[in-house]
Amino acid sequence: MASGKPNPARKPEGTEDLYGASMRAWVRMREVAGRVFGAWGYDPVETPAMEQLDVFVHGLGQATDVVRKEMFRAITSTNLATVIAEGGEGTLKASRRLALRPEGTAGFVRAAIEHTFVPQGASCVKSWYAGPMFRGERVQKGRLRQFHQIGAECLGSDDPALDAELIIMLMDFYRALGLPEGALRLRLNSMGDSACRPAYRELVRGFLLEHKGELCEECVARADTNPLRAFDCKNEGCQRVMSAAPASADHLCGDCAEHYAKVKARLDEAGIAYEEDPTLVRGLDYYTRTVFEVEALTGMGSQAAIGGGGRYDGLVELEGGKPTPGLGFAVGFERILIALEALGVELGGEEPPCVYVASAGHEPELENAVFRACLALRREGVRTERDYQNRSLKSQFKQADKAHAALCVVVGSDELAAGEATLRDMATHEQTPVALDALAREVARRFAALTAPGERGE
Ligand SMILES: [Zn+2]
Ligand SMILES: [Zn+2]
Repeated sequence: MASGKPNPARKPEGTEDLYGASMRAWVRMREVAGRVFGAWGYDPVETPAMEQLDVFVHGLGQATDVVRKEMFRAITSTNLATVIAEGGEGTLKASRRLALRPEGTAGFVRAAIEHTFVPQGASCVKSWYAGPMFRGERVQKGRLRQFHQIGAECLGSDDPALDAELIIMLMDFYRALGLPEGALRLRLNSMGDSACRPAYRELVRGFLLEHKGELCEECVARADTNPLRAFDCKNEGCQRVMSAAPASADHLCGDCAEHYAKVKARLDEAGIAYEEDPTLVRGLDYYTRTVFEVEALTGMGSQAAIGGGGRYDGLVELEGGKPTPGLGFAVGFERILIALEALGVELGGEEPPCVYVASAGHEPELENAVFRACLALRREGVRTERDYQNRSLKSQFKQADKAHAALCVVVGSDELAAGEATLRDMATHEQTPVALDALAREVARRFAALTAPGERGE
């Protein structure tokens, strides 16, 4: 072992530290989500960042890239020792095979089943969540290994009004963040259900086999495993071929066609613009009927999607629950930030303003007065800063500017003797005396007046 200080560690590849503006942006995005989603009756929920591996295997499907290649597995040292000694993960009980969540829906559905969120005959449950997700992907712009998502889920009804409302709510959310509808493209499709999808799947399979020669190896293999995945292929040649493939919306059964028509009618009524896109087939097995994706039109490069979701009427059963229709979406925090940046919108904004309490000297009675003034102001709910490093008054004023102080309370010996302090407006440099016994109330009032109207508008 080398002696001396260890080298400082670096954050893992594909992760970010959130602090300053990026942390304020994350807090702000969750606030907007809570406000917008709350109006639609969605309540916050939080599930663990890790689940039993089977939750994702059942929900996402063993064959998906996420499960096969991108899952971060979680294992305790004891379990790791067992795996090594006994030769393989199969020696662990299912309850000990854990993974970090690659997305939020499967864990939410697991919780909904475990706690019976939707008892027989109950109305639907609407929830939203925000938190980190984990995928062992190749790192690039807009693709992290630990990223943040905000999502909403609704269980308990197949009413097409819910599909439309969920999409309208999502577009409201983007707008409240500073992404107007004109900056976005909403793509919409219906993937059918268990009544009509099998026949459609066969059609696509036949189509793939007819075009074998023009497709990548993986898509040829998909013909037998999961033909619809060929729509997701990144290969340009495959995309060209698939643009001429049979469209699911043209092969819906009566019920699915009616459902899809009602979703579109509601979106029209709400004035939400959308493009029907037959090639939109979301990459996860559990989607049925409505699927949608939102792309930002500028600044995103190849990673334009900033959110998407759909209906997953079969998922609760896949996770071992009673048949329960459901739907949801997820949006990516980091991707939305990139989209906002391209439009010149700073979601994090400036550091919040404060009141700074400065002292003209370091005598004990002045120290006491500073402490008491800060205490009173903070208990009044005013963000208050002060010096802790014996700075000169001039240097304290500089600190006050750095801390975005709107007002500065200056405590000096003469004023203190008269039961007063000086209140300095940091913008106008105007100074007024203020009585110490009314300080907190008076300063809080003036601070509110100075900062409230200029607060970030929407
Ligand atoms: Zn392909
Ligand atoms: Zn159908």
